[in-house]
Amino acid sequence: MARYKVVLTGDPVLRRVSHPVKEVNDSIRKLMENMAETMYNAKGVGLAAPQVGINKRVIVVDIGEGLYKLVNPEIVSSSGIQDGPEGCLSVPNVIGNVKRSEHIKVKALDENGNIVIIEASGFLARAFQHEIDHLNGIIFTDKATAIERMSE
Ligand code: ZN
Repeated sequence: MARYKVVLTGDPVLRRVSHPVKEVNDSIRKLMENMAETMYNAKGVGLAAPQVGINKRVIVVDIGEGLYKLVNPEIVSSSGIQDGPEGCLSVPNVIGNVKRSEHIKVKALDENGNIVIIEASGFLARAFQHEIDHLNGIIFTDKATAIERMSE
């Protein structure tokens, strides 16, 4: 496994709409492994491929309840509203409040190319919404209110 350098806000790669993955092959599996390693090393709970400089629709999420490695994720249904603090490895030392759906259903491909449907609520739902936003060039500070800069 290898670690990537996390791309920081201001880099145009974070603003591009990422491309769907056509085939879940070994290079995509390796990308997800290395993204997970990068995420854990940075003590993050999610990472999207644009954050490591790659405009492909791939995310990894682990809020402490197990690792999700998802290809071409899309939110197929959502309900409810939650409002809470959020941060991002690409925007260090910044926290902001973001309104998100409380419950979502995510459809994606797993690392074997099989379709999976994941139902998520609360913080896990928030993490998926945050990472899927990255695939569309959206950074949480675009949506956040009460943005706070923390000292290191
Ligand atoms: Zn982020």
